[in-house]
Amino acid sequence: MDEPQRYANRPFAFILSYVRRRKASHIIILSAILAAVACATGTQYGVKSLVDALSRAPQAISVWAAFALLVSLITADNLLWRVAGWISSSTFVAVTGDLRRDLFRHLTGHSLSYFADRGPGTLSSRITAASNAIFTMENLFIWNVLPPVVATAAAIALVATVSVPMALGLSALSGVMVMFMFRLAAAGQPLHHEFADKAAAIDGEMVDVISNVSLVRAFGGRRREHRRFDGVVDLELTARQRSLRYLEKLRLIHASFTILLTIGLLAWAIVLWQRGAATTGDVILACTLGLTILHATRDLAVALVDATQHLARLAEALPTLLVAHDMADHPEAKPLIQCGARLSFERVSFRYPDGHGVFNNFNLEVEPGQRVGLIGQSGAGKSTLFAMIQRFYAVQAGRILVDGQDIAHITQDSLRDAIAVVPQDVSLFQRSVMENIRYGKPDASDDMVVAAALAARCEFIDDLPNGFDTVVGTHGVKLSGGQRQRIAIARAFLRDAPLLLLDEATSSLDSESEEAIRESLSRLMHGRTVIAIAHRLSTVRGFDRIVLLENGHVMEDGAPDNLLRRDGPYRRLIRTELGRLKQTAAA
Ligand code: ADP
Repeated sequence: MDEPQRYANRPFAFILSYVRRRKASHIIILSAILAAVACATGTQYGVKSLVDALSRAPQAISVWAAFALLVSLITADNLLWRVAGWISSSTFVAVTGDLRRDLFRHLTGHSLSYFADRGPGTLSSRITAASNAIFTMENLFIWNVLPPVVATAAAIALVATVSVPMALGLSALSGVMVMFMFRLAAAGQPLHHEFADKAAAIDGEMVDVISNVSLVRAFGGRRREHRRFDGVVDLELTARQRSLRYLEKLRLIHASFTILLTIGLLAWAIVLWQRGAATTGDVILACTLGLTILHATRDLAVALVDATQHLARLAEALPTLLVAHDMADHPEAKPLIQCGARLSFERVSFRYPDGHGVFNNFNLEVEPGQRVGLIGQSGAGKSTLFAMIQRFYAVQAGRILVDGQDIAHITQDSLRDAIAVVPQDVSLFQRSVMENIRYGKPDASDDMVVAAALAARCEFIDDLPNGFDTVVGTHGVKLSGGQRQRIAIARAFLRDAPLLLLDEATSSLDSESEEAIRESLSRLMHGRTVIAIAHRLSTVRGFDRIVLLENGHVMEDGAPDNLLRRDGPYRRLIRTELGRLKQTAAA
C-alpha cells in the first residue's frame, strides 16, 4: 500500500483500493448477483405468463413455452447465487488478509512515540475491527444492498408492463423513500461512532489490565479493576443501545411506509382489473412485485444502516492506523558504511514530542573501540541518549554521526544493523528460547545460536523443560531477571555489531547471576565501541572512560582513575555509594 495515509479519512476509497486489487473475482461476483436478481424477478413475470397462458387455452403450446421460461429462470436464479457465493467465500476472505497484512506492516513502521501515545490493545483491536468491517461491508453490499436495489429496479420495470403510470409512481416513491432512509441513517452516524469508540476502549482497557496483572495482584487491585471495568462496560452498553435503538426506529418508519405503499399498489391493480384494463395475471404480477418491493426496500434499509455502522467502525479505525510514518528514511538515505563505530554528537538539541527538552547544544565524541560508562542521576538523559543513537527520535538541531555519517541521512535498517543493545528491561517474545536469541541475527544457524548462548553463560537453558525449545512465558515471565539478561547478551553476541549499547539492570541480581553476567559482558565488549549506562559505579571502574551526565550536560568526562583523583562529582558519587554499601553491610 503506497502512502496509506491518503486513505485515513476516506474509508470508501480505502475499501475500493482493495476491491481493485482483486478486480476479476469481484466482477464475476457482481455479474452473477446482477443476473441472479434479474432471473429471480423475472420468475414473477414467468408466473404471470403461465397464469395468463393457462387462463387462455389449457392445451396450447404457449403453456409449455411459459413453463420452460419459468423453469429456466428458477434454475438460473438458484445456480447464479451459488456461483457468487462460491467465489465470494474465497475473495472476501482474501481481502481481509490483504488488509490485515498491510495494516500490520504499516503499524510496525511507526516511531516509538506513536506507540507511546496509543495502547497495544487499542491498536490490535482496530486492525481486527477494520478487517471485520471490510468483510461485513463487502458481504452486505453483495447480499443485502445490491440484490434489493436491482430487484426494486427490475420489479418497477415489470410493473410498467401492467401500467406505466403505476411504475412511474412506484419509482418516485421508492426514490423518495431511499433518500429519506439514507438521510436518517446518516443522522445516526455520531451514535454509531460513539459505540465504535467505546468498544475499542474496552479492548484497550482489558489488554492494559492483563499486561499489568502482576501489579494488580501485588496491590490487591482486583476489586478496583472490576469496578473500573464495569464503568467502561456500562459506557459501551449505553452507546450500543443508543445506536441499536436508532436503527430500530429507522426500521419502524420504513415498515409503515412500505405497508401503505403495497396497499395502494394492490388496490390500484384491482381497480384496473375491474375496469378491464388488466388481466388476472397482471393483478398477480402487481401483487408479487409489490411484495418484492416491500421486502427489497426493507432489506435495503436494514442493510444500509448496518453498512453505516460498519463504515463507522472503519472510519474510526483508519485515522489512527493510517498515520504517516513520522520517522521515515530520508529520501536519499544511503546504507551506513561501517568502519570501527566512531560516534559523535555535534551541537545536538533534542526535545520529546510533548515538548520536554532534554539536550541543548550537546557534544560528545566516542573513539572506535572505546568503552564508555554513562552515569548520572535518574532523568539525566541517559536513556534518551540511547534512543537518539538508535534514531528512535529525530533531533531538532545538530548532528549525530556514526563513522562520520549523519544518522539522519542513512537508512535506519543499516544503522540498527551496526548496533547491538542489551536493554535494562529485556523484551522477550512468547516464542522459544532459540527464536528469542536468534532475533539478534535471523539467518543464524542453530549451532551459532547455541554458541552465542554459551558465550553469554546461558547454562540455565539446559535445565529448562525443553531446553532451547522451551517457550518463555509472556514477556519471559518464566525466566528470572538474570536469565533474561543473559538471553539478551546472547542475542547481542549473535548480532556481532561494532557498536554496543548496554543498559545495566537496576534490579539486584543474585551474586551468581551477577558474576556470570559481568563475565559474559566483558567478553561481549571486547573489540567493540561500547556505551554502557551504569547504575552501580563498580560496573564501570574498569572502563576506558566515564561520562557523567546531569540535566543533559556532560558534568565530568575522563578515565575513571583521573576522575577519582579530582575532587569532582564522580568522586562524590563514589563516596556516597561506598557510604551506602557500608550502611547496608552494617545493617
Ligand atoms: P535517564 O535515563 O538518565 O534516567 P531519561 O533519558 O529517561 O533519563 O529522561 C530524561 C528526561 O526526559 C526526563 O526528564 C524524562 O522525564 C524525560 N522523558 C523520558 N522519556 C520521555 C518521553 N517519551 N516523553 C517525554 N519526556 C520523556
